[in-house]
Amino acid sequence: MAFEGLAERLQHTIDKMKSRGKVTEKDVKEMMREVRLALLEADVNFKVVKKFVNDVKERAVGQEVMKSLTPGQQVIKVVNDELTKLMGGEQSKIAHAQKPPTVVMMVGLQGAGKTTTTAKLANHLRKHHNRQPMMVACDIYRPAAIDQLETLGKELNMPVFSMGDKEKAVNIATKAIEQAKEDHRDYVLIDTAGRLHVDEALMNELVEIKEAVNPDEILLVVDAMTGQDAVNVAESFHESLGITGVVLTKLDGDTRGGAALSVKAVTGTPIKFAGMGEKIDQLEPFHPDRMASRILGMGDVLSLIEKAQTSVDETRARELEEKMRTADITFDDFLEQLAQVRNMGPLDELLAMIPGANKKLLKNVQVDESHIGRIEAIVRSMTSEEKQNPSILNASRKRRIAKGSGTSIQDVNRLLKQFEEMKKMMKQMTSMQKGKKKRKGGF
Ligand code: GDP
Repeated sequence: MAFEGLAERLQHTIDKMKSRGKVTEKDVKEMMREVRLALLEADVNFKVVKKFVNDVKERAVGQEVMKSLTPGQQVIKVVNDELTKLMGGEQSKIAHAQKPPTVVMMVGLQGAGKTTTTAKLANHLRKHHNRQPMMVACDIYRPAAIDQLETLGKELNMPVFSMGDKEKAVNIATKAIEQAKEDHRDYVLIDTAGRLHVDEALMNELVEIKEAVNPDEILLVVDAMTGQDAVNVAESFHESLGITGVVLTKLDGDTRGGAALSVKAVTGTPIKFAGMGEKIDQLEPFHPDRMASRILGMGDVLSLIEKAQTSVDETRARELEEKMRTADITFDDFLEQLAQVRNMGPLDELLAMIPGANKKLLKNVQVDESHIGRIEAIVRSMTSEEKQNPSILNASRKRRIAKGSGTSIQDVNRLLKQFEEMKKMMKQMTSMQKGKKKRKGGF
C-alpha cells in the first residue's frame, strides 16, 4: 500500500497528541517539526510542506484548539482538515457535457498507465454511471498500444475506434467523434500517444488534437511511483495543454505518496481518480478526505461501505441475515458469504481500510487467503444433501470430501466443528436478543 511510511510516522506523532488535555504552543511546534520531516521523507514537494506546516500551526495555536475541551484531538482534526485541503478538498468528479458526447482526452508519458486507465475509466463510467463510452486509439507511434486498447475493448465488450497507425492522430480523433455521435455514444475516451519524456513534438500533437476536438476533460495519467517527477510532469503538461484533472496510477505499489500530496497544490488541478492495481476494475474515484483519514490511521470506512455495496446483493444479504438469526444457516449459505467477502477484494486491502487497522496491527493479522480457499474447496466437495444436512457426514463421506478437496479428514472435521460452534453462537445471540426484548417489554 502507498503511504505506509508516511502513515506510520504521522500516526506515531499524532498518537502522542491524542489524549492531551492541554496543548501548548511548544507542543504544536514540536509535533509540526515531526510532521514536516515525515512529509519531506514521503517526497512531498518542499514548498508544499512549508505551506502545510504553517497553515496547521496557525490554526492549531488559535483559539479553536487551545480553548477546546479536547485540544489534543482538535490538533489532529486540524491536521486532517489541512491534509484533505491539500489533496483538493472536495471530491472532483469527471466532466459531463450538456450535449453528448462528453469528450475526454487521456494524456501522459509512456508507461504511466494511460491505455490501461482509458479502459478502466470506460468500465467505471458504464458500471457506476450507466454510460455508453467509446474508446479511441490515437497512439499511432506504438502499434502495440492500439492492439492493447482493442484487446481491452473486446474484453469489456466496448467499441474501440481505430484507423491503424497510418492516419494522423488528429484526424482519427475527429472522425471518432463523428462516429460516436452516429452511434449515440455518450463518452469518447481518446487514448493519445506518450513519450518517455515530455517533448515538444508530442505537446504540439496533443495541442492539435485539443484544438480539433475541444475536449470537456483532459486527464493526465501519472505514475505515483515516480514521486516528484510525477509532479514535474504534471506541471509541464499543464503549462502546454491546460489539463483539467489527474489520474494517479499505481497507488497500490509502495509509493511514498509524495505525488498524491503535491500534485493539486503545485498544479492547481485536482486528482480525479486513483489506479489501485492492474485489473480493469481497480480504478477508484479519488476522495481527498478519505485519503487523509487513511493516512492518519482513521480508516476509510466510507470506501469500505461502498465496496460492500457494489459487491453484495442486498435482498440476498437480508435473507441471509434472517437465516443467521434463526440459526438456519447451511453450508450453501456459508459458501455464498465467503464468495461475497472475496468479491470485495483481497482481505488485507479491506482490513487496511478499517479504522485503527494500521500497519503494525496488520502485521500481526496474517490474512491467510489459502485457508479460505481450503474451506471453500471442502464445502464444494460436499453433495447438496450434505450441505443442507451435515449431520449425515459419516467417516466414509468425510474421507471422500477430504480427497475431493485435496485436504485431510482433520481439516474436514475442524470445519464441521467450527460451523457447529458458529450456529450455536448464533442461537445464543438470538436468545439473548429475545431476552433483552422481553425485559424491555416488562419494564
Ligand atoms: P501507457 O504506456 O501509459 O499506455 O501504459 P500502460 O497502460 O500500457 O500501462 C503500463 C503498465 O502499468 C502496465 O503493465 C499496466 O498494467 C500497469 N498499470 C497501469 N495502472 C496501474 C495501477 O494502477 N497499478 C499497477 N500496479 N499497475 C498499473
